[in-house]
Amino acid sequence: MNTTDAIIIGAGPCGLSAAIHLQKLGLQVVLLEKGSIVNSIYRYPTHQTFFSSSLKLSIGDIPFITAKEKPQRNDALVYYRTVAELEQLDIRSGEEVTSVRKDGGKFVITSDKAVYTADYTIVATGYYDQPNTLDVPGADLPHVHHYFKEAHPYFRKHVLVIGGKNSAVDAALELERAGAYVTVVYRGSDYSKSVKPWILPGFESLVNSGKIRMLFDASVEEITETAVTVRTYDGREEIPSDAVFAMIGYHPDYDFLETMGIRLDRQSGCPEYDPDTMETSVRNLFIAGVIAAGNNANSIFIENGRHHGEQIAGTVMGRMDADL
Ligand SMILES: Cc1cc2nc3c(=O)[nH]c(=O)nc-3n(C[C@H](O)[C@H](O)[C@H](O)COP(=O)(O)OP(=O)(O)OC[C@H]3O[C@@H](n4cnc5c(N)ncnc54)[C@H](O)[C@@H]3O)c2cc1C
Repeated sequence: MNTTDAIIIGAGPCGLSAAIHLQKLGLQVVLLEKGSIVNSIYRYPTHQTFFSSSLKLSIGDIPFITAKEKPQRNDALVYYRTVAELEQLDIRSGEEVTSVRKDGGKFVITSDKAVYTADYTIVATGYYDQPNTLDVPGADLPHVHHYFKEAHPYFRKHVLVIGGKNSAVDAALELERAGAYVTVVYRGSDYSKSVKPWILPGFESLVNSGKIRMLFDASVEEITETAVTVRTYDGREEIPSDAVFAMIGYHPDYDFLETMGIRLDRQSGCPEYDPDTMETSVRNLFIAGVIAAGNNANSIFIENGRHHGEQIAGTVMGRMDADL
């Protein structure tokens, strides 16, 4: 049994930030990470440019300096690795937490490698590992993807992108540039307001010039190996598709949170927590980062989730002072 003061589950930007703030209180902090450090960013599209400036992605008062205002995925990977080095964070990557339970006043955290006890547990597991899926025949075929990496393999291929927010628009743009024949199917009646304003004009001009086919008020009915059946106001259409990118969002691991005793609103996917302290319905069990947003992932991202660590550390400090 390993004993520590605080366990953080997930070494994404918000978990790292929480670790820095708790370490500043003099606590021994262990981060358990099932993938690699900042695994969600590692899994972004290879050539992704952040919509945030590097300033707004920085954590722990460590400057994130880039030549351009908005960094690329690889800049961020370098930055967060550097932060982990400078702050000497104890990150155990490749270690997945499978259960968290309370035994008396302490937490017992079990991973696939070890068992830990801790006074405080912070859940910073994000949502990126659980893609939303389509409830239609063929949704689980191997050419239906929920993550977009690179466009190169789709040169002169018919690609159908489902969704109308940033991930769908970014993927469609990159695919078109790489010579794919792109159709975007979106259930909304107009472009989503969440699409970044500096991205939309370029996308719209490709749609207007017929280089990308955009179908609004459209829903997917069936996917086969070679085509996707789409319903619009004009009726049904079978669209040839060599690959499908269902960029329709992600959600937190509801079951995992509930097994820890965290109460959850299943409708919104939101865990019950105090927004001032980030503490859940279980004392000394905190959440940090986008996991707090439930299904509405657009409300919390790195820019604001990176501050959750300060709130958590403030509460923990108060409890440490009270124990003296
Ligand atoms: C393409 C793209 C571009 C984006 N651009 C921006 C941007 O410009 N600005 C911005 O602010 N946000 C952006 N975001 C959103 C941002 O990536 C997320 O808000 C952010 O990653 C949330 O950080 P987090 O630490 O809460 O969770 P995550 O970064 O998802 O980290 C969670 C970590 O927990 C680990 N984990 C999960 N379960 C377990 C377990 N059981 N045991 C151990 N480890 C576990 C995961 O492997 C992961 O590393 C973007 C997202 C995408 C997809």
